[in-house]
Amino acid sequence: MTIQELDASYVANTYKRFPVQIVRGQGSWAEDENGKQYIDMGSGIAVTSFGFGDREWKQAVIGQLDRVQHTSNLYYTEPCARLAQMLCEKTGMKKVFFSNSGAESNECAIKAARKYAASRHGPECFTIVTLKNSFHGRTLTTLAATGQDHYHELFQPLTPGFAHVPAEDMEALRRLTARQPVAAILIECVQGEGGVVPLSQAYVRAVAALAKEKDILLIVDEVQTGNGRTGQLYAYMHYGVQPDIVSTAKGLAGGLPLGATLLGEKVENVLSFGDHGSTFGGNPVCCAGALSVLSRLDESFLQEIREKSAYLFHAFQGAPGIEAVTGLGLMIGLKTQRPAAQVVSACMERGVLCLTAKDKVRLLPALNIPMETLKKAAQIIKAVCAGQEG
Ligand SMILES: *Cc1c(COP(=O)(O)O)cnc(C)c1O
Repeated sequence: MTIQELDASYVANTYKRFPVQIVRGQGSWAEDENGKQYIDMGSGIAVTSFGFGDREWKQAVIGQLDRVQHTSNLYYTEPCARLAQMLCEKTGMKKVFFSNSGAESNECAIKAARKYAASRHGPECFTIVTLKNSFHGRTLTTLAATGQDHYHELFQPLTPGFAHVPAEDMEALRRLTARQPVAAILIECVQGEGGVVPLSQAYVRAVAALAKEKDILLIVDEVQTGNGRTGQLYAYMHYGVQPDIVSTAKGLAGGLPLGATLLGEKVENVLSFGDHGSTFGGNPVCCAGALSVLSRLDESFLQEIREKSAYLFHAFQGAPGIEAVTGLGLMIGLKTQRPAAQVVSACMERGVLCLTAKDKVRLLPALNIPMETLKKAAQIIKAVCAGQEG
């Protein structure tokens, strides 16, 4: 059997894969089983922050692998402690809980918020408000948090205690918080899976102000937007707000599974011994990878991300076949005249890997993609959107 046939026979049918097997990669280039080269504009869904096989990252990971690959959280390890310190120093948050994925980083945020609200405001205060069109993960609780009905349909009953309001509608949020006790508001500053839709400055600030006024916790889901993706270390930093809890994962460790829940002043000591845990969480190899990624996301590197972003916005805005360009930093959505899925497969044909999000073409290149490679990819994407084949 071919690999594609093996996979179809034995791997659970949850993924509709493209008919391509990636066998190796270098930088922003991926190679398939036939030796065909692709410019990677998806980064494994915003995960490989520095592309494939980045030398510095690999050294950090292999160096740790040579020392110790896992200890469990019964013992101290250096990468875990140093990474928590770096995350706190770069954000002003106070404590970090490590897990292995985005959903788990949100799960911890939700547990911390519930415990804080129950102990401060009583057992009736448990509702977590999220936005319609949001995405927060696939566990039963983070599905309940996800404000898109189609993800819910087959999996009832979901965890209770979530309410959804439309984004950009402060009145709806005010009405809800007037009607019932609310523990936390959970938002993505740029809705990723929802179609690369950034929230407005005015809305995020109003949400943060309302949350502060009512001692409702503000949780920002930075699983996709975090770790430099939007041209700031975390997307909330574009908005001048200070969340109480930040969850992140995807690009944090540059291609290894790591989730982090950053706890601010109000909640830094909410979780105590035995309240939460994870066998793999804070794995030293993953943390060593994350230290390498985070230590390089300084102001001048973030500035380069913003410049690459400006280049892409400029290249795509008003181009034939492109109706709208949305997003922030190197998280970009294209509303195309041709169906997004058609654009993605035509781009793949021509050697560029892109993603979709809802009805958009979604681009999430490596943060260090060379300008020359980015230009080449943009040219091909534009040609495909304009309907030029071959
Ligand atoms: C991808 C994503 C998640 C889920 O992350 P997993 O690692 O797949 O569990 C949660 N929230 C947002 C905003 C995401 O983009």
